[in-house]
Amino acid sequence: MYPDRVVSGMRPTGALHLGHYHGALKNWVKLQSELPCLFFVADWHALTTHYDDPSVIETSTWEMVIDWLAAGVDPSQSTLFIQSRVPEHAELHLLLSMATPLGWLERVPTYKDQQEKLADRDLATYGFLGYPLLQAADVLIYRASQVPVGEDQIPHIEMMREISRRFNHLYGKEKGFEEKARDAVKKLGSKRSKLYQELRTQFQEQGNEEALEQAKAMLDDAQNLSMIDRERLFGYLEGSRKLILTEPQALLTEASRLPGLDGAKMSKSYGNAIALREDKDSVTKKVRTMPTDPQRVRRTDPGDPAKCPVWQFHLVYSDDAARQWVDKGCRSAGIGCLECKQPVIDAILKEQQPMLERAQQYIDDPSLVRAIIADGCDTARKLAQDTMRDVREAMGLGY
Ligand code: ATP
Ligand code: MG
Repeated sequence: MYPDRVVSGMRPTGALHLGHYHGALKNWVKLQSELPCLFFVADWHALTTHYDDPSVIETSTWEMVIDWLAAGVDPSQSTLFIQSRVPEHAELHLLLSMATPLGWLERVPTYKDQQEKLADRDLATYGFLGYPLLQAADVLIYRASQVPVGEDQIPHIEMMREISRRFNHLYGKEKGFEEKARDAVKKLGSKRSKLYQELRTQFQEQGNEEALEQAKAMLDDAQNLSMIDRERLFGYLEGSRKLILTEPQALLTEASRLPGLDGAKMSKSYGNAIALREDKDSVTKKVRTMPTDPQRVRRTDPGDPAKCPVWQFHLVYSDDAARQWVDKGCRSAGIGCLECKQPVIDAILKEQQPMLERAQQYIDDPSLVRAIIADGCDTARKLAQDTMRDVREAMGLGY
């Protein structure tokens, strides 16, 4: 009922790395020509872990937008903006917080995980606990249908869906809803209204998901409905509530969890990352000094790719022929580890070359980046304001 829309964000806590690229950014570039896309700098989210030293956030913000543009995000196709410049995100976060059970937030796996992994920071804060709820606001405020992210974000998207359902359940109530919905059904015309009734029954009585999808598609095509009747008919299909917010879906890439130099998930805070625009010598050195299968001490010892972090990079960067060469050469000690690493180094450098070239014009003229963001903030803010009008009204704040 609402147009398909893609929303995703990243935290400006330092230079982007290959994990961000293969896990999410690559999908952004692909999606921008298929659907309307909104991509934001999650500066408030950066504060959840960097509240005691926010100095990194400002420079990282502009550097990160350059990373996006370098990776091929096209500002004429997608909207790029900064979260804090659309304060409606904070308003929705506050309103959603009223009805969000604490247990939902405490149970998010990243909550305890990150507290343990980032033990040098005090993350026993209100803001850090509420981080996934702020994310929910970021996505729900655009009624996004798809969220391209890395695998670690799946539980957060799941929670967004629950938040959205709960919101509609609590605030989608309307006096005389059934009657108004039945009137709206009549407005579909006799043939369509009959089909609508049949499909609705099939879904409600037999849980037939296909019938539900078919009914939704029919509503999408129905021209003569007002916005409000459309909301009612979508809600009436599944129950007796209007659908004010929608349920987003996570979109993953093939390498939705790229390992770092040590085999653990690539992350800036674990010191195992290669930056998207890292210089050639440093990339070469990092890969050459990467640990390999610990059993392979001498050149003549055979190794096992399954135990080697370099193999994980071959899975992302090499074709079948190269992988076979690695597998055979490693197991038979036919090739040395440095030999095995060279194609990975070459592939990373090749991937980076066009990015470095695209980045240059923005490094030379930072005002280009500011203009892109200024435009994007205006566009995003208008969309966010539309949703907030409906949200306020639904919660009885429409004065
Ligand atoms: P870092 O841990 O390096 O600081 P982050 O997790 O703080 O990065 P976010 O801004 O939270 O970075 O994540 C941005 C996007 O990149 C998310 O969609 C996340 O899932 C994805 N991502 C981050 N690291 C990886 C990785 N190693 N593999 C795949 N996707 C990743
Ligand atoms: Mg980060």
